[in-house]
Amino acid sequence: MVIRSPRLRRTSIRLAHSAATHVGRVRHSNQDDHGFAEGLCVLADGMGGHRGGEVAAALAVSTTLGRFNGSSRVGLVRAVVAANRAIMERALVDENLLGMGTTICAIAAVVGESDLDGLAVVNVGDSRVYHYSSGVLIQVTEDHSLVADLVRAGDLTAEEAARHPQRNILTRALGIEGDPVVDTWELLPVVGDRYLLCSDGLFNELTDDRISEILGQCTDPEMAANELVDRAVDAGGHDNVTVLVVDVTEAPETGGEDWTLPGVRPEQASAAAPSDMIGLGGRGWRPVALGVGLMGLLAAVFAGIGLYARSGWYVGEYNGGVAVFKGRPSGVLWFNPTVEEVMGVSILDLPEPQRKAVVDVIVVPSLSEGRDLVERLSSDDD
Ligand code: MG
Repeated sequence: MVIRSPRLRRTSIRLAHSAATHVGRVRHSNQDDHGFAEGLCVLADGMGGHRGGEVAAALAVSTTLGRFNGSSRVGLVRAVVAANRAIMERALVDENLLGMGTTICAIAAVVGESDLDGLAVVNVGDSRVYHYSSGVLIQVTEDHSLVADLVRAGDLTAEEAARHPQRNILTRALGIEGDPVVDTWELLPVVGDRYLLCSDGLFNELTDDRISEILGQCTDPEMAANELVDRAVDAGGHDNVTVLVVDVTEAPETGGEDWTLPGVRPEQASAAAPSDMIGLGGRGWRPVALGVGLMGLLAAVFAGIGLYARSGWYVGEYNGGVAVFKGRPSGVLWFNPTVEEVMGVSILDLPEPQRKAVVDVIVVPSLSEGRDLVERLSSDDD
């Protein structure tokens, strides 16, 4: 995807930002979160029972803000991987938080390739980053959701996806796997351009045309953020809604040289660099060790691993059929997932996108939700 390839001055940029959030009209708590640091804007949409969603989203935002060193796109990916690790480690020490997860998207001013200024974008899940310039709104990120896969396969239109009952099923999130795959892009910073980060509570209520219209009408980012959230709540407010409006501005000290820059370079990074892998025996466990002996520590660690490994549910392929599994899809150490219920559905009877999603596994919150999901997937095959 190439948004533009303009000539730019080689100059430092600043991200002028504003945010607005609302619990909506249906939910009782706001599990969206967001935050800012110098040159970095982060948004997360949490999920999970009890306070899980709130905790996961808050950890995603705070860890990404704290770990980003401001240097590069790779540095931003590493910060997101650290956030994933923080969420999983927190779930290990609080059983009320087991199974929590969150989306994340972020934009950061970085030193790009050839030492030129760049904008790094990352995404996991179905929160979105849009680019807006001269009245044109373009979605930069790709959603990691079942309906997005169906749209990409040509089996659903974007309009059908927006109303689809399974639109909340994610194919990627933080807190689910130890080795998250993070989509990243490096964009051209163009002074005057605007970026929009939002949770699904915005785009499930407002069309892209309406979002674009509001971004064009409200030149002040704070006004734009508030207007977008207010209109989404007016349109139904079925979910938490959070919006970050980010304007690319010129920093006080500017250079003067003209440069021709390459276009947008979307990349998918295997984010788990060795230093960022979850260390089951590493420093992440040290807080647990305080005040207990080595044997007690090991017992606590193994119990925690076992609890974590057995905490999840997912739908996957089993002997040519479809089953609901208990545990983590790839297992954790010697704790392997187990088949809890084999459904009376052949994998070959499912339409191609649903079959692929099942083979890739779909994480669900419970056995009953897994059964319901299989029923819905198989009923799509009319
Ligand atoms: Mg949401």
